[in-house]
Formats: sequence, C-alpha cells, structure tokens
Amino acid sequence: MSVSTAAADQSVCTPLPVLGRDVTVPLVTGGEVSYAALDYAASAPALQRVWDDVAAYAPYYGSVHRGAGYLSQLSTDLFENARKTVAEFLGCRPADQVIFTRSTTDSLNLLARVIPADCEVFVFETEHHASLLPWQDARVTCLDAPRTPRQAVQTLERALAGRDPYGPALVCVTGASNVTGELWPVRELAAAAHAHGARIVLDAAQLAPHHPVDLRDLDVDWVAFSGHKLYAPFGSGVLAGRADWLQAAEPYLAGGGASRKVTRRQDGGVAVEWHETAARHEAGSPNVIGAYAIASACKALTEAGWDTLVAREQHLIAKVREGLAEVPEVRVLSLFGDDAPRVGVISFVVEGWNSSHFAAALSAEYGIGVRDGLFCAHPLVRTLLGSDPQTQGECGAPEAAPGEKSLNAIRVSFGAGT
Ligand code: PLP
Repeated sequence: MSVSTAAADQSVCTPLPVLGRDVTVPLVTGGEVSYAALDYAASAPALQRVWDDVAAYAPYYGSVHRGAGYLSQLSTDLFENARKTVAEFLGCRPADQVIFTRSTTDSLNLLARVIPADCEVFVFETEHHASLLPWQDARVTCLDAPRTPRQAVQTLERALAGRDPYGPALVCVTGASNVTGELWPVRELAAAAHAHGARIVLDAAQLAPHHPVDLRDLDVDWVAFSGHKLYAPFGSGVLAGRADWLQAAEPYLAGGGASRKVTRRQDGGVAVEWHETAARHEAGSPNVIGAYAIASACKALTEAGWDTLVAREQHLIAKVREGLAEVPEVRVLSLFGDDAPRVGVISFVVEGWNSSHFAAALSAEYGIGVRDGLFCAHPLVRTLLGSDPQTQGECGAPEAAPGEKSLNAIRVSFGAGT
C-alpha cells in the first residue's frame, strides 16, 4: 500500500500528523527512501499533537500527589485531569475507576491479581498472550476458536451455562484481533456474560486506536489499552472500570502513594491502610508524562472525529485488500471470513516465500516496516495456518521449506497517521 494511492480520495484520507513522516531509511539497493511505517499494531507513531503537548508541559513537570511546590500542584492537576479525560474517552460510569498502568499487559495482570480467589476465567484461545496468560492462578476455561462472531457468542454461552451460577466469573475478550484485525462481537459477549452472572474485561489494545470504545454502550465491566498503540509514547496504559474488586483486593504494588496510613504494630510488624481510590494500585511515583500523553491522544482522536477516522481507515483497508487480492500467491488470514468488519490490521502468507524473509525484503528493498512471526497469539496463528504446534517454537519460529505450509505470517497494520 502506498500513501499516494490512499490520497486518491482526499476527503476521507487526510492522515493525522504523526512523528516519523520525514524519516528516510537506507535501501540495500543503494539510496534512501521515505520510511513506510506499517506496524501500527505493534506500536503506532506518536501524534505530532501529543508530542507537542508533552514538549510544552515538560519544563513544568514535578512530583505528583506529594509536592507543595507550584509545579507539583500543576502536575497533580494535569495528572488528575488526564484521568478525567480518559474516563470521558471511554464513556466511564460515575463509579468507575481509571487506573494508570504501564500497558495493556500490565492492566490485565493487575486485574488478574484482584479477581476473587474462586473466580472462574473464560478466554478464547484466539486471544493475544496479554489476555490469554495472566489468569494462570485462576480456574481458566480456554474456549475453541470460533469461525463466526455468532459462534463466539454461542460458545461462550455454552461454557457459562455449565458453571456454578453463584460463584464469581470473568470473561476476557479482545475487541479487535491483533492478527486478523477482525472485530469481535463485544456487546453480545458482554450480554452473554452478564446473563450468566459473569463479568467481562475488554482488551482494547487494538480496538481503541481505531474505534470509539464506550464502556456503557458496550456494557463491559473493564477495559484495558496501551498508550503506545494509541499514538502516545511507550510506558503508559489504562485499566478502567468497576471499582469493587479493585478496592477489595490488596494493592498490585505495595508502596508509597497506595497507602493512606502506615503505623508500627505492637508486635513489631507494620500495619497499613490502603487507599480506596485508583491510587491503591498506583504505588510509587506515577508516569505523569505518560498519562498526560494518553489524555492528549484521546482528545486528538475525539476532535478528529471517529466517523472521519473510521471512514478513512476503511478506505485504506479496502485498498490494501484489493492490492493483495491481485497477487495469486497471497493468502490473507481470517477467522470470520472476508466480509467480517475489521480494523487496519491484515496478516497474510505468500506461497513460496518464507514470511520472515519476505518481511525483511520489504524493509531492505522498499523501506516498508511490517511485522512477521506469530504476533504473540500462537494458538490463533497456528489455527489460521493449520500448522502443527510441535513444529513451532517461540516467537521467531523456524520457517517452512518452499512448498510446505508457512509456520508464521506477515502483518501490515496502519491507522490514523497512515
Ligand atoms: N492485546 C492485544 C490485542 C495486543 O495486540 C497487544 C499488543 O500487541 C497487547 C494486548 C499487549 O499490549 P502491550 O504490549 O502494550 O502490553
């Protein structure tokens, strides 16, 4: 895909300004070319607006929640206002909490730490490892990959029908696949979960950069996402949603900021009362720049308008798919079929090509940055490729010989800055 093709329809295809537009990279064939960043699903370039906001604030930052000085007060206000902005962006309910974390992975691990001890967890095998793996200490039911959104709901309903209806249960589901880009029926899955007395957390790492995510509208209990996929820099993420389990549990990290009162016990030990606000799970000095950057990205996306952003991304998706369809050796990977609604994440294999070599050649010969591999979703990619788990190692799997099935895939992904 080239940006110039997308520019054919200017009304829907004006990208939001992002960093890195002017970066040129060397080619093996000699010379330099403008870098084409097509790995947004891993980390999207920061919006220029986010970078400018952070740069304007940087000279003024100070410690948060703990300083009497003017800059500390300013930083505390900015940090807490960032929380409010994120709450608005996510359509939080009045009693919901917004906790700043390091990433989606961190957010889901935090939630895994606070679920009740006897909580059953339901996940599809198709999940990214960040939503598949944090529940190892719980009773986990891993559900088969569905082949339609309807089958996903039916599979979940069947699994939930068999559980103890009085015990706590949690469903963890991704909103948009980081492999196929396909949208999952989140609203329907949430309704199924709630009908069976379970709660649901939405992994919105790939959904939030491409679509509005509204907790009330989707009726999910929690949502998690990462700043670095939402056009903000690395190191910050969000877990937002219901406060009760979060406040009933021990803090994720113990330390200053999470504690309201600490005393020495008679027996020589240390007694602590923890905060009941989001601070309970934000021990230590928070990443105020990261939170501020996320809030700036939320504002920029909202102001750009989701209708426009979605329309131009759908235009790009159609162009990429048209281009790939012209190459007979290309097979696009899909769980739900060609017509499934999707975001700008497309994985494929090229017959006769080693996926890793193909991705390396795109970079070395054309300056196009994509990703190859199993995309931290090993069971899903194996299902899509029909490959044998025994022949695959960790990420960076050995590749198939010519004529054999591919063992990994190539992924192009793009978004508001493409
Ligand atoms: N969930 C999905 C669907 C993802 O695509 C990713 C990252 O690729 C994650 C979770 C983990 O995000 P992070 O690495 O920012 O924690």
